[in-house]
Amino acid sequence: MRIAIRICFFIAISGLCAAQARPFPGPDVQQIYQRLLPEIEKIPAFDHHAHPGYADDPDVDAMAAPPNASEAMRTRDDNPELVAAAKALFGYPYSDLSAEHSKWLLDKKNELKKQLKGTAYFDSILDKINTESSVANRAMMPDYLDPKRFPWVFFADSFLWPFNNERETARSPDQGVYIPLQKKMLDRWMQQENINKLPPTFAEYLKFISQVLEDNSKRGGIAMKFEVAYFRPTTFSDPSHAQAEQLYQRYVGGGIPTERDYRTFQDFIFRYLVEEGGRLHLPVHIHTAVGIGDYFNLSQSNIMNLESVIRDPRYAATIFVMIHGGYPLEREAIWLAAMKNVYLDSSFGELTQYPAAFKDTLKMWLETFPDKITFGTDCFPYNQVLGSEESYWLGVRSSRTALAAALAEMISENEITEARALELAHAYLHDTAVKLYEGRVH
Ligand SMILES: [Zn+2]
Repeated sequence: MRIAIRICFFIAISGLCAAQARPFPGPDVQQIYQRLLPEIEKIPAFDHHAHPGYADDPDVDAMAAPPNASEAMRTRDDNPELVAAAKALFGYPYSDLSAEHSKWLLDKKNELKKQLKGTAYFDSILDKINTESSVANRAMMPDYLDPKRFPWVFFADSFLWPFNNERETARSPDQGVYIPLQKKMLDRWMQQENINKLPPTFAEYLKFISQVLEDNSKRGGIAMKFEVAYFRPTTFSDPSHAQAEQLYQRYVGGGIPTERDYRTFQDFIFRYLVEEGGRLHLPVHIHTAVGIGDYFNLSQSNIMNLESVIRDPRYAATIFVMIHGGYPLEREAIWLAAMKNVYLDSSFGELTQYPAAFKDTLKMWLETFPDKITFGTDCFPYNQVLGSEESYWLGVRSSRTALAAALAEMISENEITEARALELAHAYLHDTAVKLYEGRVH
């Protein structure tokens, strides 16, 4: 009798409160997940942040990994998930990655590269993971990537380092690797514009920068990317044009800038580039997460440092994409997406976290600003076994499973319907990012 009353009470309450969210998923959560996952796997993805390319290609990034840098557990070459990646992508017949067995994999890839000429090899990788197209965030584009499926995002940091960089290079072993590569990148942009030394006046330097942006856009560039957090703190002051001009005149002919002078000059150039991004319809991608290298300073590159720039109404016409969503500060980061022109990319979070943890990140984002979050893998030729191919696979697979799990919990907790969940999946995996590029990507 007492049990019967309780059951009736429960039914009455649950009937009345069908739309009220509850704090735990019900026993149906696994079934919902199993239903959602195949639907989510069918959605052709747009990868908003990746560095596709072969391991021996120096243009995969505008910087390079410093020697002997610590690797987080999941991106090490002994991650057993990489066996699954090799099986899915290449039909790998073994269940470990011993030196002897890994040779099979290398031979197989070489054989496929010979068979699939031109752009066909990397196209076939995207086909296997159901990615329609993927950003190629690279120093330059190679002839083995089809620009229709791999739209170019070029690097804009080097304009911040035109002067004598002796002091900058000496700050740490990591800067010793990074800063000379910035100089190299700047030289390449100068070569592109047929100049062999820095312009004599500041006005001409700014004109040169704008010309590179315009030319890169014509050559297929869809956005500019900053990885400035690797090179200096991401707190940007707001110096005047006159201040920056004075500093340019002081150092263009030589001399080592004081750290303060260099930062002030860079702060102006960064803001100039951000503004040009609005004028030229080139979204601005900014690395906003912890980074590789043991000297990467997380507190000085905290995503919230950028708040003074991205909440500045002067840049309302610029679209910002916060690459890596501020990880491990992704909880704060999602509130930056309250700005109409600010979007988050989830790449790297899905590689460095396992799906069980990444699911919670995605769920929190989906519950806050679901229309402002985009999918990316941060694919990169990390090492011999975790190449671009495998990191694409690991990133896509982790993101699709974490997404299905996050949405299944939200459905089971009465937050959203299953139909709405699939709309959110399409938005995150493809639609939201594609809309930012005004028909230039698919
Ligand atoms: Zn990246």
